[in-house]
Order: sequence, then C-alpha cells, then structure tokens
Amino acid sequence: MARSHHKFKAGFLSSLLLIPIIIGTLFFSQKAPSSPSVVSSAIPSAYDLSENSSFSIQFIDVGQADAALIECDDQYMLIDGGNSADSNTIYSILQRNNITNLNIIVNSHAHEDHVGGLSGALNFATCDLILAPTTAFDSKAFTSFATLASQSNGILIPNINDEYSLGSAKIKILGLNAGEGNDSSIILKITYGDTSFLFTGDAEIASEQALLARNADLHADVLKVAHHGSNSSTSQSFLDQVDPEYAIISVGTDNSYGHPHQEVIDRLQAKDIKIYRTNIDHDILCSSDGSKVTCSPYTYSSTVSKNQNDQIQEYILNTNSFKFHLPTCSSVEKIADHNKENYQGSRQDLITQGYQPCKQCNP
Ligand SMILES: [Zn+2]
Ligand SMILES: [Zn+2]
Repeated sequence: MARSHHKFKAGFLSSLLLIPIIIGTLFFSQKAPSSPSVVSSAIPSAYDLSENSSFSIQFIDVGQADAALIECDDQYMLIDGGNSADSNTIYSILQRNNITNLNIIVNSHAHEDHVGGLSGALNFATCDLILAPTTAFDSKAFTSFATLASQSNGILIPNINDEYSLGSAKIKILGLNAGEGNDSSIILKITYGDTSFLFTGDAEIASEQALLARNADLHADVLKVAHHGSNSSTSQSFLDQVDPEYAIISVGTDNSYGHPHQEVIDRLQAKDIKIYRTNIDHDILCSSDGSKVTCSPYTYSSTVSKNQNDQIQEYILNTNSFKFHLPTCSSVEKIADHNKENYQGSRQDLITQGYQPCKQCNP
C-alpha cells in the first residue's frame, strides 16, 4: 500500500533526527575554516532542497498564549501549546492531521500560557525529544506536562548553540537562561533553505541584550514577537538585527496586560514589517519553498466541507512522494516530469489512494 510505504520513510528519517549536532565550546576559538564546529555550512540552500521537500509553520490561535506547529518533510515540532484549556485544541489538531509522533516539543518556558496545552499534545502523540529551560516548576500546568514527559523520554535542557534537525530544516538554540521567568525562554532559530524563523517565547530585553552581546545571528524572515507584543521586549536594537519581513503576534483580545503594546506595533510598522496577530487573523500559516516565505491567515483543512472533498477537479500528483497539489502551487514546478501526473477527480479519492495534501497549497 502506497501510504504505508510513505510512513516507513518518515519513520526511518525520524530515527536519524535525534542526533543533536552540538557545536561550539569544545572546538571554540579555532579560526580554521574546516573546523567541524561549523555545521552551518551543512544547511542546504534552497537549491539543494529536494523537490519533495516541504516546510510550513502554523501559528495556532490560542488567545493570550503561544503555540506553533512546524512541519518539515513530514517531521513535526510543536513550540508551546497555549494554556491548559487549549489542550483539547492541540489534541484535535494533531488528531486531525494524523500526527501520532512529534519529533520535537519545545516548551519555551514554564508559564502556563506556554506549557499548559502541551499536555494535550503528549496525550495524543508520542514525542522523541522534549526541550525546556527547566525540568521543574511549581504549577499544576507544568507538573502535568513534566509527568507526561517523564513517561516519554523526559525533559532535556538544551545548551546555547545546540542544533537539531527537523527534516531538512535546522533548529539552533540561540539563547535561554536557567529558571522559570520570562527571561528563561528558549530562543531558537529555524533555518530552511535560505529562509529563517525566530522564536522568542516571552524573552525580555535582558535576553535580547545577551543575544546582541554574543553577536548571535538573529536575522530571520519571520519573527514570533516575544511576550505577546509587550513593550518589555522587541527593543529597537534587537529588531534592527532580526530585520524580519513578517512579525507574528500571538495575543488574546482584550487581555488584561494591554498586549500588544502600541510602542511595539509602532516599531514594527516603522520598519514596514507585515504584522499578523492571532486576535485579528486567528490561525496564521507561514510556508517556505526554501527561498521565499509567505504568511497568511489560514483555516485548517478539516474545515474542508464534504462537498469540497467530493468535488471533481484538477490536481497535480507527485507519484513519488504521494503528495497532491493545486495546479497553481509553487512546488509543482519542482516535481520531476517522470513523477508528475495530472489528475481529474476528487480530493477524497486521492486520500483513499494514499495521497496526502501538500502543506503549502492545502488542496
Ligand atoms: Zn511568560
Ligand atoms: Zn506568555
């Protein structure tokens, strides 16, 4: 069966995933260009990505909280899960997308609006690697997460400069601090081809200053704005270094903190950064073909009506990766001719045949 073959491939890849490529301190200070610590040279450029490669980030509307689901080459990472009350949302998103294994979960820091819904994720899916800046915090939400994590592989506290793979994307830990406050937040950058995404948790100005002092490579096409758009973060000097095209603010309507603060919005707008906010745009999808990022409000494919599912229309198939695309999808041109097939039929028929909808064009 085509589908099980595909799953086998994904399983095999995920078994390779969990070898963190740790760079830095051991080899530090050598100028030699051939130094094994320079793993960044191994990041494939857009040109090197396979035609079947895919990358997307769903910023999930969890109100005054954070949650983002990242997919690359059929591997998955969840960064934060919203509040405890969002557990059901996270559970059903994973269920709907049939994500029974998360390759990586990152809890940016211990506060409930980041860790709470991760219990929903661990109730549905297994997870290979769970990262957080601390293994203990005295709250119901964190304890429930830590208990579920201990039934899996436990929580790992990463080190600055650790790197992990997610399909052909690379994740690099740029910053974190011990403890449980906002400034403990894991700050990480995802690089896919020539595009990049910076996640900041609730990190505040002290963390930003530390990153700037370390000369961390902060530039990213998409910035997940720290601390729900609070003016305790996103200082001008930090923003100048990140210099993103898009800013995503995960924030609840009428929250008691007054987030996002107007100064932050002003700073973003002054740089002509396109802003999406979960309290206005709800779920936001950013996808990348390795050279260009596009972000837009998004509705899950589960909302595809039965009617749409059965409608006869034209799709482009990749008979090698078992993905189907809209004829207008930018990844269609990357499919080798001998794997490309035009198809007239229904979405449901394709799914029955083991095909999966492309995560970029969401047919
Ligand atoms: Zn926080
Ligand atoms: Zn928060």
